[in-house]
Formats: sequence, structure tokens, C-alpha cells
Amino acid sequence: MRKNLEKKLISLARHWLGDKSRKYVIVTHTNPDGDAIGSSLGLYATLTAAGFSHLDVIIPNPYPAFLSWMPHADKLLLASEHPDLAGELIRGADVVFCLDFNGLSRAEGLEEALSGTRATKILVDHHPQPEESFELLISQPGASSTAEMVFELLEATGLLPYLDRAAAECLYAGIVTDTGSFSYSCNNPRTYEITARLMSLGVDGERIQRLIYNTYSVDRMRLLGYCLSEKLVVIRRCQAAYISLSLDDLKRFNHQPGDTEGVVNYALAMKNISLAALFTEYEDHVKASFRSSGPVDVNRLARKHYHGGGHRNAAGGKSFLPLHNTLKAFEQLIHSDDFRVETDE
Ligand code: 5GP
Ligand code: MN
Repeated sequence: MRKNLEKKLISLARHWLGDKSRKYVIVTHTNPDGDAIGSSLGLYATLTAAGFSHLDVIIPNPYPAFLSWMPHADKLLLASEHPDLAGELIRGADVVFCLDFNGLSRAEGLEEALSGTRATKILVDHHPQPEESFELLISQPGASSTAEMVFELLEATGLLPYLDRAAAECLYAGIVTDTGSFSYSCNNPRTYEITARLMSLGVDGERIQRLIYNTYSVDRMRLLGYCLSEKLVVIRRCQAAYISLSLDDLKRFNHQPGDTEGVVNYALAMKNISLAALFTEYEDHVKASFRSSGPVDVNRLARKHYHGGGHRNAAGGKSFLPLHNTLKAFEQLIHSDDFRVETDE
């Protein structure tokens, strides 16, 4: 474990996990992914088993269907459906764990409750450049996933004996999804040591792989085919490729939350492409999703031009231009000198 994290974890153990009668809430980011849900439910399950009785887990909006198998998924409180209750729980909490996001605006709809609560907000996250809005920052940009960090947290606070197979499955799913099944962000033996510990608790990795990746609906599979055959634009000169989806495209394929997850990775899987983007049209904005390889820094790109952020090689944000103009602006941007500066080369 990295030294600075260890110290913070020990102080956390002493101060904030010492009294089980406190009210605890776990919150994660909008459009929660496998790591958001996996780390939240893994922590939830373990604290529950350890006897923390005032404990709620809140997500801002629905999660993808391919995560619905996760143990304790029925305990997730959907803030978009129960905004008043979610706000009340956050405002009335003593401790709020903020998992897998680095700024309050990432928990859309909950910002006000989070900034207004008297609770101690504890950030556990692996995104670079966390905001100062948290009382305790446990930030480890080198970690594969927040799920990995939750394991470290449980170990450092003596709670690991309460981590059962169900909780281990959740953390395992977080690691698998944030590393693309151990293909990036995992050049560190610690990720594999933690994975091994989770497997020794009975996790069936093959089953989880199937549940997450091999459960496409027919519509989702056809949408993927359509993206690759009809919507892929390659700009060789910039080593870039992008895909865009309009509201009509989404309607045609009966789009459900999570259906476009992973699509952007295909655009990066081509030879000599180091920047990939997916632009998805929503009613009031266009969601931008970026992936890159090597020194191309899409975190900076998303922060500077798309009101967003993320990691160096995986980031996202929003455009408030119409879809067509968003695409034009993106093409101009990647041809500009400004973008070349951002590649860090
Ligand atoms: P995705 O492209 O899969 O939605 O997100 C990739 C990465 O970018 C994730 O680490 C996610 O947390 C981050 N990200 C996605 N959308 C946003 C956004 O709107 N704002 C910020 N700050 N980060 C985002
Ligand atoms: Mn994550």
C-alpha cells in the first residue's frame, strides 16, 4: 500500500468507523458504472455485516442492466426516483462516503444536499485532481479502481473479516470493469494481489465476466454493429476516430441505460488510433466519452472543452451545442495546435 494512503486510512479508522451508532451514507456518481456500483455495494455489504445498522447507499440515477445481478442491488436508493428521501438521508447523516468521483457536481441532483450536509464527507476515489469539497480525501490516482481502494480501506480498518463472498463479487466486478478485464490501469501487482484475495473468498471470475459482458440484448448488439459499420469516422491525420449517436439512432435501437458502454473502446482498438470519442445526443446536451492511449491526455481535453474530466486515458464530459455542431467543433479542435499541446508529447 502507498504510504500516504496508509496514514489517512488509519486516521479514518480511528475517527470515523469507530462508532456503529452513527448514521452512514454511501454515494456514488451519475450514470454509475461497474466500479461505482461495485465499490458502493462492496462497502455497503461489509459494513452491514460488521453491524453498522444506520447505513444507506444512494445512486443519482439508474445503472445499466448488466450490473443488476450484483448482490444487494435491491438496496440501492435511486435519487432520481426518491429525491426528497435521498436529500434527507444525506443531510441527516454523520458520515457520507463519496465513492468513485472527485467533485460534487458528478453526483447530479445531490450537489445541494452534499454541500449542505453537516456530515463528514469522506472521498474514496482514484480520479486525478480531486476537489477540496471533502473533509477527508482518500485519493489514489494510481489505483485500478475505487473497488481496489475499498478493499484497502477495509483491510486498514480491520473490517476485512466481514467481507463475504457477495461483497467480494461486488469489488471484483469494480476491478474488472475499470480495467477492461485486466487490460489497462492494472500494471501493478497490488491489483492482482487484491483480486487473488477476492477470489479466495469464492468469487467465480468466469461467471462474473459472462454476467457483465455476455448479456447483451439483441437491440444492444445491433446498436454496436450499427455504430461500427455506419457511424465510425476515422481521421487518420490526427490518429483519431469517433462515433456519434443521435436521439433518433438511440430510439431506433430501443436504447437502455448502459447500452453504449464500451462502444468507444472499439474506436480505440484500431491500429494507429490513439484518440477515440463517442458523442451521444440527449434531450438537453450531448454526452462526450473519450478514450486514448499513451500520452494523449483526454482528462485535460474533457476538462478544458467539455465541462468534464476523468483519467488521462478515459474521460468524459458534455457539449451544449447541437450534435452536428459538437462534431464539427471536435474535428476543428483535434486539428488545432491547441490539441497537439494537450498530447503531452
Ligand atoms: P465514460 O466515458 O465511461 O462515461 O467515463 C470515462 C471516465 O470519465 C470515468 O472515469 C468517468 O468518471 C469520467 N467522466 C465521464 N463523464 C464525466 C463528466 O461529465 N464529468 C467528469 N468530471 N468526469 C466524467
Ligand atoms: Mn472508477
